[in-house]
Amino acid sequence: MKNPVPRFVAFFSAIILSLFSLLVLLTIQIKFVRVSGSIWIVVPIILFVFAYLVFLFFIKRYIHRKIKLIYKYILNTKLGSGSGSKKHTFPDLSIVEKDVEQWAHHQQDQMKSLEQTAKYRREFVGNVSHELRTPIFNMQGYLETLLDHGVRDEKVTLDYLKKAIENLERMNRIVHNLEAISRLEEGGVELNVNRVNINALAKEVMGLLAVPAKEEQVALSIKAGCDKSFWVMADEDLIRQVLINLVFNAIKYSKPNQEGIVKIGFYDMVDHILTEVSDQGIGIAAKHLPHIYERFYRIDKGRSRKTGGSGLGLSIVKHIIDAHGQTVNVRSRDGFGSTFGFTLKKA
Ligand code: ADP
Repeated sequence: MKNPVPRFVAFFSAIILSLFSLLVLLTIQIKFVRVSGSIWIVVPIILFVFAYLVFLFFIKRYIHRKIKLIYKYILNTKLGSGSGSKKHTFPDLSIVEKDVEQWAHHQQDQMKSLEQTAKYRREFVGNVSHELRTPIFNMQGYLETLLDHGVRDEKVTLDYLKKAIENLERMNRIVHNLEAISRLEEGGVELNVNRVNINALAKEVMGLLAVPAKEEQVALSIKAGCDKSFWVMADEDLIRQVLINLVFNAIKYSKPNQEGIVKIGFYDMVDHILTEVSDQGIGIAAKHLPHIYERFYRIDKGRSRKTGGSGLGLSIVKHIIDAHGQTVNVRSRDGFGSTFGFTLKKA
């Protein structure tokens, strides 16, 4: 039943009034004149209907007056101005009730999202300062030592300056990655989607990473049977970044002092092309797999730092692939290597 309270109140008030009219009729009959049969029925019924409508009208008007201001406020602050009643006249109480419920839910959601944003911000600022602190300390140490002890030995001086610059580069990389992450998270990146030959792009990336691969004794190659054109619809610059991050990780996390092989393969999956980067490196234990795309997540912080990592590479990969509306996945066995794969729409 819609708005039971005002209706019940009006109903019972009207009943009481009808009963009262019967009492009045009875008094008239006893004290004055005889009241005819039909009047006993007609008067209470007419009085009941009339009283019910009048009571209902005044009760509703009273309630409307009381909640009008707060309702107006709720209506103005409700989820967008598009939802709910937009009538200028005060709507029925059931609509008010629905609107207030919606508003309360919306307020709750907003509170939750504000709490999450605040938590995210706290964590983010904490992580960023933590990440930047190490290279800043290092740089400070090298430069202060040079200042304190003077530039006596040219070789040591050059070595310290080189190390200071390496730390500066690390800071630069962190800032660059942070910028990329925040742009991707804001959704402010407009994809420039074109037909791209992902095999050619992978070969370009292999060329870009030839030096670090050589330093780590890792051979980069395209998987047998995959060395042909695979056309996808993608933002070339962003997917280049994805491949750089994945191949660079495959090199960085190769087994130390061992020759390694990193292969890039492509698989035709009807509507999509699956690109996979596999290595024979240190692998990732199952318990870490659900977390590796989180910002700043690193399994072995020492190793990651040593190789210039900041724990942002895979997070950027995930954001870029998400922005393409595609998926990224990983298979890995601790100690036996990893395979990272992502899909792209076929061109
Ligand atoms: P980082 O800058 O530390 O490499 P990433 O976001 O790229 O950050 O990777 C997150 C973590 O996932 C790394 O610190 C590393 O522990 C792990 N990881 C990523 N790629 C590989 C891989 N190919 N083999 C083993 N571990 C990996």
